[in-house]
Amino acid sequence: MMPASGRPWVVCKFGGTSVSSRARWDTIVEVVRTHRAEGRAPFLVCSALQGISDQLEALCAQLASAEPGAPESTLNTIRERHRALGQDLGVEAEAVLSGEFARLERWVDEIQATDGPSPRQRAAVLATGELLSTRLGAAYLSAQGLPAEWLDAREFLRATDDPHLPPRRQYLAANCTSHADPGLQARLADAPETVYLTQGFIASNALDETVLLGRGGSDTSAAHFAAKLEAERTEVWTDVPGLFTANPGEVPSGRLLRRLDYDEAQELATMGARVLHPRCLDPARRHQIPLHVRSTEAPSLDGTIVSGEGPDVGPQVKAISAKTDITAVSMDTLGMWQEVGFLADVFQVFKHHGLSVDLMATSESNVTVTLDPVANALDPDILDRLLHDLNRYCDAELIDPCAIVSLVGRHIRSLLSELGPAFEVFDEQKVHLVTQAASDLNMSFVVDEDQASRLVRELHAQFFGHRAPDAVFGPRWQELVEDGTPEETPDVWWRERREALLRLADDESPRYVYDPEVVTARSDEVQGLGPIDQSFYAVKANPHPEVLRLLERRGLGFECVSPGELDRVFEACPGLDPARVLFQPNFAAPAEYADAFERGVHVTVDNVQPLAEHPDVFAGEELFVRVDPGQGEGHHRKVRTAGAQSKFGVVPDDLGRLRAAVDQAGATVVGLHAHVGSGITDESTWAGLVDLLASLAAEFPAVRALNVGGGLGVPNASGGRPLDLDALDAALGKAAARHPQYDLWMEPGRYLVAEAGVLLARVTQTKTKDAAAYVGLDTGMNSLLRPALYGAHHEIVNLSRLDEPPAMTADVVGPVCETGDVLGHDRRLPPTEPGDTLLVATTGAYGASMSNRYNLREPASEVMLAPEPA
Ligand SMILES: *Cc1c(COP(=O)(O)O)cnc(C)c1O
Repeated sequence: MMPASGRPWVVCKFGGTSVSSRARWDTIVEVVRTHRAEGRAPFLVCSALQGISDQLEALCAQLASAEPGAPESTLNTIRERHRALGQDLGVEAEAVLSGEFARLERWVDEIQATDGPSPRQRAAVLATGELLSTRLGAAYLSAQGLPAEWLDAREFLRATDDPHLPPRRQYLAANCTSHADPGLQARLADAPETVYLTQGFIASNALDETVLLGRGGSDTSAAHFAAKLEAERTEVWTDVPGLFTANPGEVPSGRLLRRLDYDEAQELATMGARVLHPRCLDPARRHQIPLHVRSTEAPSLDGTIVSGEGPDVGPQVKAISAKTDITAVSMDTLGMWQEVGFLADVFQVFKHHGLSVDLMATSESNVTVTLDPVANALDPDILDRLLHDLNRYCDAELIDPCAIVSLVGRHIRSLLSELGPAFEVFDEQKVHLVTQAASDLNMSFVVDEDQASRLVRELHAQFFGHRAPDAVFGPRWQELVEDGTPEETPDVWWRERREALLRLADDESPRYVYDPEVVTARSDEVQGLGPIDQSFYAVKANPHPEVLRLLERRGLGFECVSPGELDRVFEACPGLDPARVLFQPNFAAPAEYADAFERGVHVTVDNVQPLAEHPDVFAGEELFVRVDPGQGEGHHRKVRTAGAQSKFGVVPDDLGRLRAAVDQAGATVVGLHAHVGSGITDESTWAGLVDLLASLAAEFPAVRALNVGGGLGVPNASGGRPLDLDALDAALGKAAARHPQYDLWMEPGRYLVAEAGVLLARVTQTKTKDAAAYVGLDTGMNSLLRPALYGAHHEIVNLSRLDEPPAMTADVVGPVCETGDVLGHDRRLPPTEPGDTLLVATTGAYGASMSNRYNLREPASEVMLAPEPA
């Protein structure tokens, strides 16, 4: 239906970042002007300023906990944010906003007088964010010569919920239905020159009270208004230019999806893509109103069009999504499967604990389900009680943390044969659950959480890496965000040492180059961890003699896992005190232990058998014992820690047997050890290990030291959150205070050396095959195995043309006869030619040390830079 002016409506929704600055409001003005010039009547739906809904949530929390003073200070922060934006926009913020602030203050008073906030009060408080942002916006549009009228969304959007629902649902996650609303259309048609502006997220109930549509509900508001106005389309303006084949934050080569149908977009939104709120797609589909996703940051881009009439491209995987922080419950049915009512009993338990099940797979002897943390409040007590009750019917176990990796697209089932090669990605990888949606729109895999990003990257490379742009698949994210200038990685040492590196590469290629200053800086950080009494460098990360000498000078000891590593450290550092060396092999022959005792280094065992069968080797010796905390964490809960490497360590249940063997052999346990993985960025991990080891040490009176292993994550590796060493220090400090009788040891490898190393390699050939481009180097997986082995991501740059803008996308490959010999998929490079030198960054750890001579190709040599002249 057309307004009286004869112009079709377009509903434009602007998200939090899009309404938070003058620059973005100018984009909004442009959008409005463009629509009018093109004959459409724009109707705007706005979110609260970025971060304000969180502040209002915090305000409610402070009111609930009756923290004195806190609510006033939060109110002031909220006021200041809006005043500052008002100033930037040049509008009279005080006059425009005072009514809304007065109402907010009255709610605060009311809550303080009752013992709230109740869901009703909470809804009213949270609604203020949208009311304020739209007040400012309306004033600004008017000042720009666009007559604007502020509408209260609550007058038009009515919740349809049953009053018998729990109040939280009714007030905070309400539902609306939408129909064409001739009354609203007639009313707005009276003033064809006016731009209307209203709030997302909020609506009202039959009592005229404020209700909310759930966090992120502004998209849903826009879809409802579009239905009421019978709009030509809905535009969702956000900070990313559309929906992508994978989350661009994780997969920069993710492709813009130009067209999707409603069902596919719905599936994608539900399976973890955060761009659209899943609930907005239903009204859009029912009223057949197309939905465009566009970016206020890059308004010239076309974005994604979701409609009922995408081009018919047949069955196709459209995107790969991942949802993390998932808890799965595996239930072994102990032969109960065929008993009448087994499933009913089991699901009754979930219902009883108020937990909703997301995905499910069944076999004859096992039922596995996932619980979605968004829908469920998963506190450990509830999970404990759930397991306890389930164990009456079956043998239940939590698998935690998991991720759901999904392939999304129409008719996935008919693609099964094409999926074949993609499944190689799951080789060696435990898949806890596989499901295929009845809608035939997605196929999902539940895997350990730490595997999710690797799987997404690998699957993405398989399905989309070599696809030419077409009507559905647009440009890559990395191409869209480039503005012609190459991305500056700030403060990377190899930018500053570029000339020296290019000279080194001219002398010899391929080669690893290490910067001693980076090793020094990292070792100072580790040595600065106050609660740690002694740190040992895990030699396997990089056993280069100069690296070892440098770290010895900084006071680190060494952690060795083989006789070869022991030989190396004593050769590199003659005169080294053996008390600074650990020997912690896995499945070593008895002679290796005997040799280590001979050298006088600390020895760690992680199995009962050698003690029991070769007591003579251990007689009279002091030992460390490596514990596998995988099965023991939390004594009353059966938790299988993701990625627990079962071949390492002694499980806590076996420590009694181990102690007997130690006593029998006449040895003494003087320390306990645990190492739980690599690339860890959760700072509480090691403090947790201190507590665990201390609790086990009660059985070993001679224990003096607890070694909590390595695994410290490297800062900035492929965009992940860097490890916060201050937080680590604080957590360890508290743990140390709880167990002051023990020395604490650590043994990081990667953290000390990863960033210090780069691999330089020369381009030998380039090749284009169909849509695929390759840049070939004089070395590959023989020098750097990590990408092939773990799907590791390393930044790759063309060092010869470091300042030239990217112009091509290519797989960077080596010369080894293996399809997996790829150092990087879909990398953006400047025009790259044979003879150029490429640099593979962050390869100082597990680079040269894992290199090999496969194909009889010598791996890269290694060189340490001379310290930079001061
Ligand atoms: C490999 C290893 C380390 C070092 O791990 P990083 O991730 O490099 O810090 C420490 N301890 C043990 C037992 C190891 O096997």
